[in-house]
Amino acid sequence: MLKKNFFEFNFEGLKNFLIKDLGIEEKKVSMRRKQIWQSVYQKGSFEIKNLTTFPLELRDKLNSLISLQRPKIINTQTSSDGTIKWLIKFFDGNEVECVYIPEKTRATLCISSQVGCTLNCRFCHTGTQRLVKNLSFAEIINQVIIAKEQINDWDEQKKISNIVLMGMGEPFYNYDNVKTAVEILKNKEGLNYGPKKITVSTAGIANRIPEAANEIGTYLALSLHAPTDDIREMIMPINKKFKIKDLIEQCKYYSSVVKEKITLEYVMLRDINDSVECANQLVKLMAQFSCKVNLIEFNPWPGVQYLPTERSEMEKFGKIIQDSGYIATIRRSRGQDIFGACGQLRTESEKKKIYKN
Ligand code: SAH
Repeated sequence: MLKKNFFEFNFEGLKNFLIKDLGIEEKKVSMRRKQIWQSVYQKGSFEIKNLTTFPLELRDKLNSLISLQRPKIINTQTSSDGTIKWLIKFFDGNEVECVYIPEKTRATLCISSQVGCTLNCRFCHTGTQRLVKNLSFAEIINQVIIAKEQINDWDEQKKISNIVLMGMGEPFYNYDNVKTAVEILKNKEGLNYGPKKITVSTAGIANRIPEAANEIGTYLALSLHAPTDDIREMIMPINKKFKIKDLIEQCKYYSSVVKEKITLEYVMLRDINDSVECANQLVKLMAQFSCKVNLIEFNPWPGVQYLPTERSEMEKFGKIIQDSGYIATIRRSRGQDIFGACGQLRTESEKKKIYKN
């Protein structure tokens, strides 16, 4: 019989499995579930034979039914700044990239939600790769597990202190899997990350934002990148569908539910969105809801048509926002030399062609 993969169970699914397939009595099921969940997600123990909280007989039965196999890392690149990029191959052969970014007092793991992307943002390398597929919640969580294994980050240490869904793909176009993955990340018996340790970044799928406020509840980053619909549409085709006004409305709601500022991401493209006029227009937008802006250095990639804004110009732009009373930070780019920085992730996975007879 084909074994089930442990990571394909969410918290509820595992309970049903333990009752139905393993024959555990109802009154003991919560305890047993907690024991396995903690041993895998918190201790990083991937051998059922080491699950000593289970009686031997139960362990044997469990071992015959499930596997704890994880996808494989097929390439590792380390940047001169300490950033590490892993290329992960899933069981179906598809690949995604996942980036570990250590800083002085914290470390962030940037994970992907899709293989490829449908959005085609003009400045983003992932956008040149067609959407291959949505990742399952197991595949999203496996990126965290694999990274934790690589840097030996188990028990209380939390070397990876923050998790951002800012890798390949649009999280809100894979909403259900992202939601379940975040549940596992937040679960106290699971990976145990507080909601304020997780950030979901969206290109602005406005109609998903209210649900996400109620069901996901992490920090939200909105990839705004332009202060007017005209400019935004030019660099982000998704703006044809969801206008800035709608985004602001939904973000207002999100920040009122989650009670945190929305982070606006603003990649600075020379002569496109970096004028003084743009800064002033951005200030007017920022006045409408609770937010702060992250000015991002543009990371070029082969074949791209944009240039980065000079550092001094970025500072000038940031100062206009700060002088108006809002928070603007300039995000230092990490892992550029290994193409591990924002918008530089891309894999060779392609959608399988389906031939009809
Ligand atoms: N689809 C989601 C999450 C992935 S992108 C979103 O759009 O938010 C993560 C961030 O990197 C986004 O803000 C994206 O706009 C930005 N980005 C994309 N390409 C970039 C590049 N070449 N340089 C800098 N940032 C980039």
